[in-house]
Amino acid sequence: MSERVYLDYNATTPLLPAAREAIIQALDAFGNPSSGHWAGREAKRVLATARAQVAALAERRPEDVIFTSGATEAIHQAVLSAGPGRVVLSAIEHPAVPGAAHVLGERELDVVAPHAHGALRAEDVLARVDAGLRPALVAVMAANNVTGVLQPIGPLGPALRERGVPFLVDATQIAGKLPLPGIDADYIVLAAHKLGGPKGIGALIVRPGAALRPTFLGGGQEHGHRAGTESTLGLAGFGAAAAECWRRLDALTQRYQALRDDLEGRLLAALPGASVIGAGVPRLPNTCALILPHGVAADPVIKRLIAVDIAVSAGSACHAGSVTPSPILLASGFTADEALRTIRLSVGHATSEADIDRVVAELPAAAMAVAGAEGPEEPA
Ligand code: PLP
Repeated sequence: MSERVYLDYNATTPLLPAAREAIIQALDAFGNPSSGHWAGREAKRVLATARAQVAALAERRPEDVIFTSGATEAIHQAVLSAGPGRVVLSAIEHPAVPGAAHVLGERELDVVAPHAHGALRAEDVLARVDAGLRPALVAVMAANNVTGVLQPIGPLGPALRERGVPFLVDATQIAGKLPLPGIDADYIVLAAHKLGGPKGIGALIVRPGAALRPTFLGGGQEHGHRAGTESTLGLAGFGAAAAECWRRLDALTQRYQALRDDLEGRLLAALPGASVIGAGVPRLPNTCALILPHGVAADPVIKRLIAVDIAVSAGSACHAGSVTPSPILLASGFTADEALRTIRLSVGHATSEADIDRVVAELPAAAMAVAGAEGPEEPA
């Protein structure tokens, strides 16, 4: 049987070895970090180490880091903290942003569409900010999860700070792939499982002085900003993964880019008529959103790949058996037909050259089989 291949790192990552090791060690630090005795103190040390490691990744202070159950919760806390009013957001945000605005009520959504290739223009966002009453919040992700395209958070940060408008940057996809330092935002969101840590743990990093409200009240953990006994195991893994990414970021970035460029070049050569989303604009080094040639739907190709243990994902969503185009791709200016022909391949820390070779051997063959198939396009 062939080796299994995982090229879906934007969905989630396997644990980095350092994160796995830290979690195993933390199994023994079983105390409640809030307890004053030796067991509590041991657990508290796990917490403090993780806080320092995550803060270092973003070049912020440990006391500015609030641990949450993941990016979704951190986004909810930022939207809650900013308070009611208009939220200016990109049309390609993770659904957690409009979701938080909806569940919290009293938030009016003002959606800005990206320009060509799925990249937002800072001036479009600022024009919307300056039109009408001052917004309660602006939310723009650092990099998009489907296309990998980088967004203009660099110019937006100072411009929004000058205007006194709170800025939320969802850095979930960029963390661990490109440097984070210098993100000029009131709220930065991270999720451990996208950078080699475990699932169910994340962080909201808050600029000193920014408005902050607790999502949960109870035992007063996280300095009263997020009640609930901390996940010491999750935190140990998150901290170790963040430290590893911080320490090896240049090497990781270069490696991802080399693997992705190799994959992309060979797939484009094997598939005349295929194209890559965001090829001409800055994007994540690990992501290839590939539009298959005309007439080749991504869904049956992906099913064929899954059948041979190659894990990739689609630019579409499958709900109750019917395949719908990704709202992110539609919002980014791609047609429904293009979105339904898009496959997302994302490499990561455990990806090998052999993985790339296998995908280059299997994907074009699957696409040709689908192109040549008559009737319903289902794998055998
Ligand atoms: N934001 C982005 C850009 C994401 O890609 C994801 C996960 O897919 C999230 C937020 C939500 O992360 P989580 O499900 O860990 O809360």
